[in-house]
Amino acid sequence: MRCYGCLKEIRGKSQYCSKCKKNIFNNIDVKPLTFNKEEFYTFKSENTQRMSISGVQDKISLKFSDANILEPTEVQGHYILKPVPNTNSAQKIEDIPMNEHVSMQISKQIFKLDTAENGLIEFSDGELAYITKRFDYQKNRAHTVAKVEQEDFASILNYTSEINGRSYKYEGSYEAIAKGIKKYVAAYAPALEEFYKRLLLNYLIGNGDAHLKNFSLMRPLDRDDYILTPNYDLLYTGYHIENDSLTAIDLFDEYETEAFGAQGQYTLQDFEEFGLMIGIPEKRLIKIFKEILQNEPKVYEMVSNSYLSDAAKEAYVSNYEKKLHKYLLYFIDSFAFKDRSVLVKVLL
Ligand SMILES: [Zn+2]
Repeated sequence: MRCYGCLKEIRGKSQYCSKCKKNIFNNIDVKPLTFNKEEFYTFKSENTQRMSISGVQDKISLKFSDANILEPTEVQGHYILKPVPNTNSAQKIEDIPMNEHVSMQISKQIFKLDTAENGLIEFSDGELAYITKRFDYQKNRAHTVAKVEQEDFASILNYTSEINGRSYKYEGSYEAIAKGIKKYVAAYAPALEEFYKRLLLNYLIGNGDAHLKNFSLMRPLDRDDYILTPNYDLLYTGYHIENDSLTAIDLFDEYETEAFGAQGQYTLQDFEEFGLMIGIPEKRLIKIFKEILQNEPKVYEMVSNSYLSDAAKEAYVSNYEKKLHKYLLYFIDSFAFKDRSVLVKVLL
C-alpha cells in the first residue's frame, strides 16, 4: 500500500512508513481510530461550545491515551481530525480529506515548504479522514510539552468581525501580510521568500480560501523572536465550490499591473512585480520559477499516487496545468510588454 503520510509505497502491516510514524505520531504504532464518523459528529455536537479550535470545517482534537490510542479530547489535543464534512454547501465532498492531504504533501515534499505534519487515518469502519499534528505544542528545554504563542494575520493586521464585518478574514491583501512579516519576523528575508512560494502554491493548486487567518506567526518556546508557522489548511477548493475565487484576497493593497487590467486575473507580471515589491531578489525569483517548471511532473505523479478518486485526480491535474500554463505563465508568449519582464527572458 501507499503510506497514509508521504504516499510512498510501503510493505508490511503498518499503514505508515517509519519516517511518517516518527514525524506524525512520535513513533507510536497507530491503528485505525476506535470510533466511526457518526460517533465523531456525536462527540462534536456534544462538545462544540468548549472546543478551542477555530474555523468552520468539522474537526475535533485528538490525543493519545495512556494506552497509546488516539481519542477525542476537549483539552490538550495534539492532533486535529477532519473527516468528510457534513455539509451541502460544497460538492464532491467525499474527496475533501484526500484533497487536503495531497495538497499538504505537495507543499511539503515538492515545494519543500515548512508544512504541518499530516496524513490520512482510518475510522473504525475503514473510511478515511485527514489528520494533522498541531504545531503549537512543542517541547521546551525541560522536555515538557507546552503551548506556543501564535497569532494569525487577521489579528496581527487588526481585522475583526466587529470592525470589518463577517467576512473580515477576506479583507486586506497579501502585500499587507508581507509587510507584517517584515515588521515582526527578525529573519524576514527567508520568511518572505517562504511566504511568496506559499502564495504561488495556493494559486497553482486552486486554493481560493487562503485568507488572512491561514497565515500566522508564532514564537517558538525558548525564543524571543517570531517566525512563520508551518503551512496549513491547503485545499484545491475549486473542486468543491463552483466558481470559487482564484485568490481569497488581493495581491496588492492599491496597485494594479497592466496585465491584470487587461486580463482580470493574476499572471506572471503580477507575481513578478509582487515578488520584487516585497524584496525578493531577481535571481531568487528566477530560481523559484525554474523550480516550479521543473517540478511540474512530480506534482502530477504525487496526485496520481494519492487517495483521491480518479475523477478528482483528473480535475486536480487539469486545474494545476491550467493555472500554471494558461494563467501564471500566460503572458510569456502573448503579451506586448514581455520585453521588460525578467522572468519571461529566462523562462522562455
Ligand atoms: Zn510515509
